[in-house]
Amino acid sequence: MEGTPRGIAANIVQRPVLGKRWGAEGPERSPMPELPDVTVYREALERRIRGQLLCGVRIAKPFVLRSVEPGIDAIAGRTVTGVERLGKRIVLMLTDDHFLVVHLMIAGRLRWRPPDSPIPKGRGLAAFDFRAGTVLFTEEGKKRRASLHVLHGRAALRALDPGGLDALKVDLATFAARLARSNHTLKRALTDPRIFDGIGNAYSDEILHAARLSPLALTERLNEAEVTRLYAATRMVLTDWTARLRAEVGDGFPEKVTAFRDGMAVHGRYRQPCPVCESPIQRIRYAENEVNYCAMCQTDGRVLADRAFSRLLRQDWPRSLDDWSERLGGGPAA
Ligand SMILES: [Zn+2]
Repeated sequence: MEGTPRGIAANIVQRPVLGKRWGAEGPERSPMPELPDVTVYREALERRIRGQLLCGVRIAKPFVLRSVEPGIDAIAGRTVTGVERLGKRIVLMLTDDHFLVVHLMIAGRLRWRPPDSPIPKGRGLAAFDFRAGTVLFTEEGKKRRASLHVLHGRAALRALDPGGLDALKVDLATFAARLARSNHTLKRALTDPRIFDGIGNAYSDEILHAARLSPLALTERLNEAEVTRLYAATRMVLTDWTARLRAEVGDGFPEKVTAFRDGMAVHGRYRQPCPVCESPIQRIRYAENEVNYCAMCQTDGRVLADRAFSRLLRQDWPRSLDDWSERLGGGPAA
C-alpha cells in the first residue's frame, strides 16, 4: 500500500451534513449484529444449551412470534441438537426437525441468566428455559422488529434463508461469479442479504476500506485485481473480527453488541483520522444508513458529494435496508 502525503488531507473539504432528520436517531445508535456478532452468540449458546432439554418458552410480547404453525407447545420438551446461523438469524435446532429461529434485527439482544429468571418489563420479549439457565430475548427502543419463528421441517427453514453467499466458505471464482450476477454499488452488493451472507453496514465499511475500493464503485466495472482484493478483504475482516469478539467474550456470554468498536478503521469514525493515511474519515448518509470511507485510501482523494451520492445510493437501495431484510423473512429471493 502506498503512503499518502499528510498535507493532502488538509485539502479535503468537509461537506455540510445533509439535513437534520438523521439527528440523534441516526443509524449508528442501533447496530445490527452481523456475521461476527451472530457467530459469537451462536457459539456461546451452543456451549450452554447443546444437548439440553428446552423445558419451555415464555412469550411476553405475542407479536414477537411471527409463525403460526406449529405452536410453541410443539418445541417445549425437545432437546437442542445444535445452534446454527442462518444469515443474521440464530437457529436453535431441536429434535425431529423442529427449529426455533431468532432474528435480533437491530436492537434485539440475547442474555444468559439463571434458571427461571423473570422477563424484564418493557424490553423483554421472551425467555427460553433450560435447567442450566434461561436465555432472555430483549429488544431496546420503540421499534419492534426482532422476531421469533417456530418451524417444522427443513423446507420451512430454507424458506427463511435469503440466499446470500457465505464469503468464508467459498473460493474466489464463486465469490466473483456472485458479485457479477447483478450490477450494484459495492456497498449495496456487500450488504444485500440475497447476495452475501451476514454483512451489514459496519463490516461492509471495514471491508471496503481494507480492499481500498470505493463504496460507490459498480460491481460490473471491477477488474480482476479489484475483485481479488475485495474477496481477500471480506474474508480477512470477517475472520479477524470474529476472532476478536470471540477473544473478548471468552467463556462468557456476549453482552455488548456495538457499532463503535475500538479498532474499526472507518465505520463510526467520521472526521477521525484514517489509521492508514491519517486523512479524516468521510461519510455519505442515505436512507437509514451511512457509509464511512477514507477518500485517500478508497476514492483517489475525491470526497464524494454527500447529496449527489446519497441520491445514487438511495436509487440503488430499498427505502430501509432493515425493513427490507425483515421482509425477506417471507421466502427466498431471486
Ligand atoms: Zn486512509
